[in-house]
Amino acid sequence: MPHADLPRRVERLGVSHGPTDAPVVALTFDDGPDPAFTPAILDILDDSGIRATFFMIGRAMAQHPTLVAEVVRRGHVVANHTQDHLWLTHSDATEVRSQMQACADTMAGLGLAPTRFFRPPRGLTSPVVEDVVTSMGSQSYFWGTCLEANLSHHGVVAAAALTAMRAVPGSIILCHDGGHLDGPNPQSIDRSRTVEALPGLISFVLARQLRFVTLPQLFPHRAL
Ligand SMILES: [Zn+2]
Repeated sequence: MPHADLPRRVERLGVSHGPTDAPVVALTFDDGPDPAFTPAILDILDDSGIRATFFMIGRAMAQHPTLVAEVVRRGHVVANHTQDHLWLTHSDATEVRSQMQACADTMAGLGLAPTRFFRPPRGLTSPVVEDVVTSMGSQSYFWGTCLEANLSHHGVVAAAALTAMRAVPGSIILCHDGGHLDGPNPQSIDRSRTVEALPGLISFVLARQLRFVTLPQLFPHRAL
């Protein structure tokens, strides 16, 4: 996603890639939970025995608590993607902190464990975001290859293949299970092509002799 390339480089401590000494990659899903798409994605992941990391929006979690519980019940990891999915590029420290903390509070209210894993919406960040993320004991996790970036230019099979082709040991793969959000930064995006492309993406990655792990498994020293 070209628009995210510049902001991503701003974070000295943010990571886009894991260790390369094992043939593993992390599949991550942003912007859920979304009743329109998350259940189908959970079924696809179950069919392949894959555990993924879901960067959820606090506002959506509060609206769909049973879906959050289902994601956790199936063994996936839930991480912080802010409360309202604001673009944080021009946010001051107070707003960044409040967006991260409100999402953390929503997670706590649903009985979820605290997380150090944070992803700024769209990967848009700034030195202010990095300072706040660090001061809160978290770290920003970006990505190396994005399914939807390829879906915007290719059919589902080609997009799945291209996304998988760019995966190497330690890669973080970005997909989106959430399309609908209300609040101060609403969106309405059809993720049905993501659902359609996901089985192929998984097959192509496995064919490259790579296994799927969660982000805490890829970065065990950051998991506690
Ligand atoms: Zn997002």
